[in-house]
Amino acid sequence: MIPGPIEVSPEVQAAHQGPPPGHLAPNLVEAFGSSLASMRQIWRARPEDQPFLVAGSGTLAMDMAAANLVQSGDRVLVVGTGYFSQRMAKIFGRYGADVARVDAIPGQAVTLDEIEQALEREQPRVVSITHVDTSTGVRMNAQAVAEKAKRVGALTVVDGVCSTGAEALSMADGTVDVHLTASQKALGLPAGLAFFVASPRAMEARASLSLDPPMYLDFRVWQPIMRAYEDREKAYFATPPTNLVMASQVGLKQIEEDAFNGLRGIEGRVARHQRVASAMDAAWSALGLTHVCDRPQDRGSTLSALRYPKGVGPELVGAIGKEGVTVAGGLHPQMKDAYFRVGHMGWVTMHPPLLERTVRSVAHGLAASGWPVDIEGAVTAFKDRLN
Ligand code: PMP
Repeated sequence: MIPGPIEVSPEVQAAHQGPPPGHLAPNLVEAFGSSLASMRQIWRARPEDQPFLVAGSGTLAMDMAAANLVQSGDRVLVVGTGYFSQRMAKIFGRYGADVARVDAIPGQAVTLDEIEQALEREQPRVVSITHVDTSTGVRMNAQAVAEKAKRVGALTVVDGVCSTGAEALSMADGTVDVHLTASQKALGLPAGLAFFVASPRAMEARASLSLDPPMYLDFRVWQPIMRAYEDREKAYFATPPTNLVMASQVGLKQIEEDAFNGLRGIEGRVARHQRVASAMDAAWSALGLTHVCDRPQDRGSTLSALRYPKGVGPELVGAIGKEGVTVAGGLHPQMKDAYFRVGHMGWVTMHPPLLERTVRSVAHGLAASGWPVDIEGAVTAFKDRLN
């Protein structure tokens, strides 16, 4: 129950464990093409947008976004909501960008007013935003930020590593230019694949660079490969992790075929994650826990970042582990010993007994650490909110 890598479905696991296909094998070509087609649905991409699937982690997708959108001296505005926004700022800096930041206090979101003022002040070429920052649990309204950025002619990069597949974000209105993620979180796959969709404006930005980016990072090198696979044709530039692509075909289809509360596909998934986050929150309240992010409307649905209660510290993570459930410690450098994190995304959101077991394990861990808890009260609060 860490915020990634997460548990994957048995079907995804089976697809991953099959015999390794060659990169030109018909089943691999089909799995690759089908994964790109599913991405179009999950990202709500337009026909002119380009999905990419490249071996690497989320950080590779971040590097690729920066390498293709900026060159020396370009102004970039990074909206800072935690550890991963800081990483993005550093990455843009490495490609020579002149990086300005508008940062929130850890645990808070940056307001749209602050962003509007920063856009006015900085006149950036690119705005970068972390949709849900895994270090704080803070969610930004990425769509609204992208709309504002577009109005001043800036490109928007959204880091969706802790949100894509679980939070609402659409490329259909042409405001978001690169929406990136990695396989090991809400897409419900093993680690090792970077996923992103680039808009035509992002592709034009790449075309206008005066120097080519490193070959493996180059949108233009990969684009013909992605187009070929989507047309179910063989293609080769660099060998893909073929078992992961087989798993990806299955996992992404499971998102497309999800249904929750009358909603289908990604909309159903988003609603399911909201319901689960709310039920987990009911349990945390019953246990006397509070979130790093105070304002409920600024919290992502994919994880809970919870402050240790008085008298309890990082040893709680080990105490919960003894109950058989793995949760994560804090990550934000300014406060990492003050809180812990519980992921609730992907496959587990369809399996309430696993979520209940998590609530019980956290409760037992708290009790073992000396914090008084009403375990059954927390479980009841969880179940009442879930149903
Ligand atoms: N951004 C966010 C929001 C993340 O949560 C992570 C990983 N936890 C990353 C970027 C980096 O991804 P990766 O570890 O796959 O390189």
